[in-house]
Amino acid sequence: MHFKLIIRTLFLRLGTWLSLSVLLGYLLGSVWAALALCSLTVIAWHYRHLYEFINWIWQSKAISPPQADGVWGDIYNGLYRQIKRHRQKQKKLNDKLRQFRDGAEALPDAALVLSKDFIIQWGNKKAQKLLGVRTSGDVGQRIDNLIRFPEFSKYLDAHNWDTPCHIVSPVNHEIHLELRFMAYGTEHLLFIARDVSKIRRLEEMRRDFVANVSHELKTPLTVVRGYVEMIQMEEETFNPHWKKTFATIESQVSRMDRLVEQLLVLSRTEINIDNHDQHLVNVPELIEDLVEDSQWLNQDKKHTITTEIDSSFGLLGFDTELKSAFSNLLSNAIGYTESNGNIHVTWKKSGNRMMYSVKDDGPGISKQHINRLTERFYRVDKSRSRDTGGSGLGLAIVKHVLNHHHAELNIKSDLGKGSEFIIYFDTKSMVSLVN
Ligand code: ADP
Repeated sequence: MHFKLIIRTLFLRLGTWLSLSVLLGYLLGSVWAALALCSLTVIAWHYRHLYEFINWIWQSKAISPPQADGVWGDIYNGLYRQIKRHRQKQKKLNDKLRQFRDGAEALPDAALVLSKDFIIQWGNKKAQKLLGVRTSGDVGQRIDNLIRFPEFSKYLDAHNWDTPCHIVSPVNHEIHLELRFMAYGTEHLLFIARDVSKIRRLEEMRRDFVANVSHELKTPLTVVRGYVEMIQMEEETFNPHWKKTFATIESQVSRMDRLVEQLLVLSRTEINIDNHDQHLVNVPELIEDLVEDSQWLNQDKKHTITTEIDSSFGLLGFDTELKSAFSNLLSNAIGYTESNGNIHVTWKKSGNRMMYSVKDDGPGISKQHINRLTERFYRVDKSRSRDTGGSGLGLAIVKHVLNHHHAELNIKSDLGKGSEFIIYFDTKSMVSLVN
């Protein structure tokens, strides 16, 4: 609307000037001279304004344009409007930027914005405190030039950021950090470092507490058990009521003993107490021994236990832990399957990984429980588990063992038909046993 009006006025003015000069020239008897004079005046007027315009753009510090009439007034008004619009946009962007920075500063974590190739673009104050990255001096550096830990370099290279990386702070070795990367737009990464020292300390305290309590309980339990067994040797002389009482005491003490034993195994596995280097474990032999040992557990239930063992591969790992995980799955299958069931133990290659599987035709597990089975003390049917002597710790132990061995657990189960617990071991852990 504005535009059309200005253009119309522009041509109207030019027309009026030309008509007036033609009229004046006609009256004075020299139309061409009048036209030339008029054109020169118009050109001079425009040049004067051009000069003012260039002066304003290049020399003047004033934001508002010079005063002018006619078309130059319209040009200046238009320009001024554009400038104002641009400044408003810039102000909005600045406000947004300030909000983002205030937000990032308010975070309890260190936050860095990195380019896709890990070059630092920006960081909050916490980044200096926890990581020693200074926004003033370190922008433009690659993050792994400043955080020099082998585990961090590996984490960067792996490009798998679903799980966090844990390091100690390069600034203060008492601070433990949990590092995470997140895609931020298409060109950037957000790098967050969280101080998890308190959580770690609490975790350690919890683990130590459980380990100490279990350890302390072990001796009194052994003493009580010994006395009960001594008393039971004389049970022929007791009346039936006391016989039953001592049998119950014995079975409950045994249950407690198993629970304490499992708690100890769990805490040992959690802290990986035997944290020596991993070594070659002859898994085929280990499984064969386990199956043989499990026969005494199978005395009452009389299951048929079959095996399929590929003897050409072992694993790089911790033998006590692997033994514990494998035997937990086997004893669960024996314990939870009704008498005279079928249990099949497999150790073989599956794709490029190795798998250990225990399959039974027992009661199966309904879907809603499957994801929770590896939680501590989680039992599907508490009363039945108690009958089988279960504590709910077996699969929690398995989970920790698998974490140490880069392995994963897969549980397939059909209610009423049976279950299969499969452990997949990564190619990295496989070792050929054939020379
Ligand atoms: P528990 O010591 O009670 O056996 P686990 O952690 O080993 O503890 O197992 C957790 C629960 O998973 C068990 O209480 C049981 O309900 C279920 N479970 C484990 N293995 C089997 C199986 N082979 N068949 C049916 N249920 C099973």
